[in-house]
Amino acid sequence: MGLTGLEIFKQLPKTNCKDCGQPTCLAFAMALAGGKVSLDQCPHVSDAAKEALDSASAPPIALVKIGTGENAIELGNETVLFRHDKRFEHKTGIAVSVCDTMSADEIAAKVDQINKLVFDRVGQTHKVNLVAVGNCSNDAGKFVEAVKAADAKSVFPLVLMSEDPAAIEKALEITAAKKPLVCGANAANLEAMTNLVKKFDVPMVVKGADLNELAALVEKVVGMGHKQIILDSGAREVNKVLADQTQLRRQALKKFRPFGYPAIAVADNKDTFQAVVDAGVYIAKYAAIVVIDSADPADVLPLITLRLNVYTDPQKPIAVESKIYEIGNVDENSPVYITTNFSLTYFCVAGDVESSRVPGYILPVDTDGISVMTGWAAGKFTPEKITELLQTSGIADKVKHRKAIIPGGVAVLSGKLQELSSWEVLVGPRESAGIASFLKQRWL
Ligand code: SF4
Repeated sequence: MGLTGLEIFKQLPKTNCKDCGQPTCLAFAMALAGGKVSLDQCPHVSDAAKEALDSASAPPIALVKIGTGENAIELGNETVLFRHDKRFEHKTGIAVSVCDTMSADEIAAKVDQINKLVFDRVGQTHKVNLVAVGNCSNDAGKFVEAVKAADAKSVFPLVLMSEDPAAIEKALEITAAKKPLVCGANAANLEAMTNLVKKFDVPMVVKGADLNELAALVEKVVGMGHKQIILDSGAREVNKVLADQTQLRRQALKKFRPFGYPAIAVADNKDTFQAVVDAGVYIAKYAAIVVIDSADPADVLPLITLRLNVYTDPQKPIAVESKIYEIGNVDENSPVYITTNFSLTYFCVAGDVESSRVPGYILPVDTDGISVMTGWAAGKFTPEKITELLQTSGIADKVKHRKAIIPGGVAVLSGKLQELSSWEVLVGPRESAGIASFLKQRWL
């Protein structure tokens, strides 16, 4: 269990110097106990106190890194049960599996397919994160060949899925420099596996037959000096996985240290549709890694979209840059649309301008990423800000007309905007879906 605010307070310098940004040492202690600040924000705490406060200042769920380079993935450091309490820190890593019963060519072809699971959503690039190589054959030699084939092709870090320490050792001799995840240790192989991951300095999944056994195994691994751990409760039925994942997160947040690590879930239902649904449940409820078999974009894209929704910081709306966007082959006669820089708003407008088949310019005003009506109500989508964008963006050099189309929902802005900007203001449709018919009536 973590320390209380008063227990932490006893270890602090009690000078109330405010260097940590808190009004008093007591306020800092209470914030630290609640996980709202980190101990290093107090520059005056002594080394002895630092050691004593370790359990209070360490994140309830440890940070674990898999892989190297630009596709390395970080998991853990979570501090809340519900996203709206603060935010989820590290999105679920999606691992797509290959099996060592496949030929080297089949593995290369599937890994090639996995490498291409990269999608553009609301102006951001989203992709899968890991390739899981399964020791389905239970043959160490075949597993090592499969690992070689996957390693040669994959742009993503590997998950080495075998409970045979001999197979894992050979696989690590090939791949350890790329920091794969070993999956993993169980009650039968714990010592051998832990010695291997310590030797090669790579993270490891620890699997228990249930949560009680899992806690005991994790304590043994930590006792042996290895802390790069991913938890596996051993459950594979969706309702049990969901219950276990929820318990793991709840107990971790209560600072039950054996569960203070990210967790993995395997969606291995033979029915692909059901497996994707199960994976969606695991993404929504706390899996740091979810393993699926399908590399079909039609199966993976819904999971990536769900992950994007769950892991977006609710305090920071997704925003696009406030600048001129050209949709299609624009020219000096193309219409100019004004909107806000909330990504979903911008991409709706961009899609509807594209569908209208009339090339156009879009100028999203910086409203801190909030939508048109909210931006207007909050005083962030104003005639003054639109005028400033019309005058500073360079749009006047790109078109010879001086007509700006504003969203129909903020028609009330038109009079003042026209007066301030000297542009003719056309009130567009309330919804961007109406752009095509609006253009026919008012522009073409
Ligand atoms: S910086 Fe440290 S000593 Fe200063 S007020 Fe904060 S907790 Fe107290």
